[in-house]
Amino acid sequence: MANPQDKVKIITKDKEIEGILMPTESEDSVFIKLDSGYNIGIDKKTVKKIDILQKKVEKQQKKKAIKESKSLKKIAILHTGGTIASKVNYETGGVIAAFSAEDLLEMVPELATISNIETELVANMMSEDMRTSNYKKLAKAIKKHAESGADGIIIGHGTDTLAYTAAALSFIFESINIPVLLVGSQRSSDRGSTDSASNLICAAHFITQTDFAGVAVCMHHTSDDKTCAILPGTKTRKMHTSRRDAFKPINADPIALIDYEKGKISHQANNYPKKQKESKIILKDKFDESVGLLKTHPFMGDKIFEFFTKNYDAIILEATGLGQAPTNKGEEHLKNYELLKKYIQKGGIVAVTSQCIYGRVHPDVYVNLRRLANIGCIFCEDMLPETALIKLSWLLGNYDAKKASELLTQDLRGEISDRSLYKEEFIG
Ligand code: ASP
Repeated sequence: MANPQDKVKIITKDKEIEGILMPTESEDSVFIKLDSGYNIGIDKKTVKKIDILQKKVEKQQKKKAIKESKSLKKIAILHTGGTIASKVNYETGGVIAAFSAEDLLEMVPELATISNIETELVANMMSEDMRTSNYKKLAKAIKKHAESGADGIIIGHGTDTLAYTAAALSFIFESINIPVLLVGSQRSSDRGSTDSASNLICAAHFITQTDFAGVAVCMHHTSDDKTCAILPGTKTRKMHTSRRDAFKPINADPIALIDYEKGKISHQANNYPKKQKESKIILKDKFDESVGLLKTHPFMGDKIFEFFTKNYDAIILEATGLGQAPTNKGEEHLKNYELLKKYIQKGGIVAVTSQCIYGRVHPDVYVNLRRLANIGCIFCEDMLPETALIKLSWLLGNYDAKKASELLTQDLRGEISDRSLYKEEFIG
């Protein structure tokens, strides 16, 4: 009997197809990987016979010598793991982080025609396990490659918390004179529909053509392979679990679009941070991990408020609407209000953001909002809850609580948009 990873020939009523047998949960179809890299499913009812051509085919690791070209710019690819660096484990059928940075290059050889590439393995993890120590390690590697002459950095990263890392690196680098792009992929690199190659290639094109400096995200703009987008590091969110165009700028526009086939970039406006003639790297990489993110909801008991106010130095409230929280009516809710009031009196910081995601919180529109503002809750304008979490833990790592509270509502890295530029637009 054929097992996953065996090279097989599948004989159906009207064709013969060769490939590597894939694991599957499906009872109706068999899946094989073709030499082209694409996976296809074949209806079991049509299969007459499966011949084993070779038992368990392991991928041959061919390491090619990479030649440098003087006329090309230099890009450092730092690898942290995630789906962009994953393949299907043929034994279990699950996706595992398995590629080294060199493997990424081997997988996308076009990169070497766009720029000279150097690679470094910084981590090999799924991004849901990221901690601030990983941000620090990444920042150190970015600094090292920037100082040794890289014209840009691509960070291969899992998509789940890619936007959090983009925000963290945005704050860490008070000044950096090259583009630093976080690139992920929604479909694993050995799937026919993978977006890893196109995202990486677009990121490389952008780096070699732009005057942008700072941290941004490069992912699919459309669900086809035609266009990728460069998205602002502090105003981007993963808005879909599986679509390739999952990453969207929130309360902001893309910085640039890249035509994948033509390799051409187009900046969408002129107000992005640009490279300076003279600039040195300024890096502040400390974080206070004692910041909690609390999503409010109906019938929210005081126990959770008690827990957060007892255990955290600061709380981001992901409140409803314009910034409302269950603190107005009913015994439990009034207790929530008292808990927050006492917490702030004792030096705790409460920052208010909105689970609406699009739009801006406002302390004045309703009396209930004013009650929160009056006890010292800080309304974070149109900052994303995740960005507020990263920003406040970064601020508390690098400044005292008073300064951190002051800086929270000042725009440091594009995380708060100017009210006058704010457009009432959002994705449908
Ligand atoms: N869970 C994975 C991660 O974030 C998903 C991905 O890479 O897209 O690392």
